[in-house]
Amino acid sequence: MAKILDGNAVAAAVKAEVASDVSRLAENGVVPGLAVVLVGDDPASATYVRMKERDCAEAGVRAVDYRRPAETTQAELEAIIDECNADPSIHGILVQMPLPDHLDAEAAVARIAPEKDVDGFHPVSLGRLVRGLPASRACTPFGVMRMLEHHGIEVAGKEAVVIGRSTIVGKPMALMLLEANATVTVCHSRTRDLAGVCRRADILIAAVGRPEMVTAEYVKEGAVVIDVGINRTDAGMVGDVDFASVEPVASAISPVPGGVGPMTRAMLVANTVHAAVAASGR
Ligand code: NDP
Repeated sequence: MAKILDGNAVAAAVKAEVASDVSRLAENGVVPGLAVVLVGDDPASATYVRMKERDCAEAGVRAVDYRRPAETTQAELEAIIDECNADPSIHGILVQMPLPDHLDAEAAVARIAPEKDVDGFHPVSLGRLVRGLPASRACTPFGVMRMLEHHGIEVAGKEAVVIGRSTIVGKPMALMLLEANATVTVCHSRTRDLAGVCRRADILIAAVGRPEMVTAEYVKEGAVVIDVGINRTDAGMVGDVDFASVEPVASAISPVPGGVGPMTRAMLVANTVHAAVAASGR
């Protein structure tokens, strides 16, 4: 029986940790502020934003909503970002992805002042991660690292395999595992013998976007399996890991829902509070 890595419990611990920073800031008249920019009417994005704003409210972070219609132009979007960059009461800026197709997401992210990039997607934040310098870390992989740490799962010296090489999950995940001294392999759609490579893993991270693709055949006995996937199917939300077949083989596994998702949102709150601390010098 694998240990179930409950993301809600770890997320609560992260939010409790940042609460002392929030109170110290409050004594100095500072409330951490997060600008949440949502363009268009994608229902999944609206749900994510609602959950992120709820987490902010719970942690004493003021979320400022910028909801704009799908026809918003690049210039209008960048004007919002510029306004938030200049506003000292805003410490973090979140531009919810995906943006409508006519908008340039790369340019929008690059427009965010790096010190307010609490999603950790800005080229400066990613460059600082590569260089091992402090910066907001991308929330999903940062949340995975926090989850491993919370459960006392040692990373140093372990074989870690990441399936997926996106800029928001796979690549920063690999860099964070490397920073923690794992031996890291990154797999993608061109990887040969994916299951065989995955079976080498002591820690297997699935960030693929394919419902329940990772079955027991991919997992070494006793491995730790982290499921980043969020896939909406007729049967409801499922991860990238086939929980039923993998759970008996793994030593620990994160569920979907209730695993990495809440961690991502908790790390957004933590990054925003840390950005407020850095900006106020407190
Ligand atoms: P992307 O689509 O950007 O990347 C998917 C990656 O998986 C790519 O690198 C792709 O390879 C690889 N891949 C796709 N199919 C295969 C395959 N058959 N075999 C091996 N590799 C494959 O997705 P994201 O990184 O943005 O997200 C991944 C998953 O994580 C999604 O389910 C997403 O919803 C979820 N997610 C969850 C979050 C959370 O908070 N829990 C946050 C962000 C994402 P290639 O590069 O070669 O195309």
